Amino acid sequence: GTMRSLVLIGHGSHLNPESAAAVYRYAELLRSRHLFDEVVEGYWKEEPSLRQVLRTCAYTDVTVIPMFISEGYFTETVIPRELGLGHQGPVPREGVARTIGGRTLRYTLPYGVHPRMSEVILERAREVLPDASGEDTALVVIGHGTTRNENSNKVVYQNAELIRQQGLFAEVHALFLDEEPKAADWRERVQARRVVMVPFFASEGWHTLETIPEDLELRGEVTHFSDPAQTVYYARPVGTHPAVADVIVQLAEEARGASERGGDRDPEHRAAWEAFLRRADLGLRMGEILIAPHGSLFEVRHALDEGRASETLTTLVTPEGLREHTRLSETGEHRPVHTLRNLRRGWRAVLNRTDLIRAVHILYPAVVEESHACSGHTLRSTPWATTARRQTGIYAKVQRATPAQVETVARDVCGACLKTRVWAGHRLNQTFMDGVPGAIPCAEACTFLIAEVREEVSGKRGQKAA
Ligand code: SF4
Repeated sequence: GTMRSLVLIGHGSHLNPESAAAVYRYAELLRSRHLFDEVVEGYWKEEPSLRQVLRTCAYTDVTVIPMFISEGYFTETVIPRELGLGHQGPVPREGVARTIGGRTLRYTLPYGVHPRMSEVILERAREVLPDASGEDTALVVIGHGTTRNENSNKVVYQNAELIRQQGLFAEVHALFLDEEPKAADWRERVQARRVVMVPFFASEGWHTLETIPEDLELRGEVTHFSDPAQTVYYARPVGTHPAVADVIVQLAEEARGASERGGDRDPEHRAAWEAFLRRADLGLRMGEILIAPHGSLFEVRHALDEGRASETLTTLVTPEGLREHTRLSETGEHRPVHTLRNLRRGWRAVLNRTDLIRAVHILYPAVVEESHACSGHTLRSTPWATTARRQTGIYAKVQRATPAQVETVARDVCGACLKTRVWAGHRLNQTFMDGVPGAIPCAEACTFLIAEVREEVSGKRGQKAA
């Protein structure tokens, strides 16, 4: 076989619908380049989750890239653990290769530590100062800096050193928001008349839009200072530059090493989607959606919009359009768990077979794969105790939750979810794939529930609701 899946892993958020945007955009960009047979996204706090994402891959050759700006807790602990990589701690330069469930998995370093990022820094610098080099110009790379993770600073120093060696600037500095040498003290350290500041941050946000400009007294893209006279050119963060897509491609190539061949169609994945399409050809209700064959196309709509005249609904014709339209609930809430019963109404999507698969993956990530396994009695569930034991960092305290506390929270949270808690011992012998519309298995507590259990253990859960 020669088929390859690329998986981009993001942090995601239970609260902020924009958190996953950067990873989503890179996935779209890479899809449009057709270098991989598929590009899949997976998130810690959204779906498909890290626990589910491999199951959603169509091929047996999978490269997983953590979309993080630096090494640290997520890239070294959380992601390898949740993927079941059997590796903890620093990831070697060549990555970690494993065979998991019949798939060859290659886990790479985060994109931010790739040496090519120094070129991205220079590109960002040239955007604000096209002739960004020379005797009178300093380059400042601004990092976050945190005492919790030394590695996040290392990469900023390394990039500064790489650029320094090229001799393009009179001075090159690595300065930090939260530690010495502090970016706020730049006037004491930087002598050059022209200063280009490039934030080594993953995305545009609180830090790049508020903290840095405030600490450094910047007023927009260009700020003039007097006494001594200096002009600061403030660039956009490196993490959102389109050239990061090239860094991702290179990382994936390097992870592959000398091995030329890719993988094959994953047999379980293929069987699941073939079974799904056989059902869809007959018309199918799945959770809150209704799928109806429509000539050679399919129409998808909210089940509560059954029978409504098509003209009264917004017609969508692409999976991406559908994603954009259903990303938030009717009341504008973020939907980190897609099977919570809050899918908005009022739309219909008209799609061909290929797009239907993508649309269902977007609406209900991993549900087809897991339901098919459940119907075939091969879905392995993870009891709460095992999930709790795996937790680290701020979530380790969920291990202290009593069974009664877990049940209270689950009744509340999972009560609003379409899924049946197989992990809590609830039985599910048939699924929507067997014609029982609402029957979707939950094999393992999701991170949303884990976070709520943590609130409960901390005694904060009632307060939030109030
Ligand atoms: Fe739904 Fe509960 Fe499972 Fe989360 S743990 S996916 S809320 S059933």
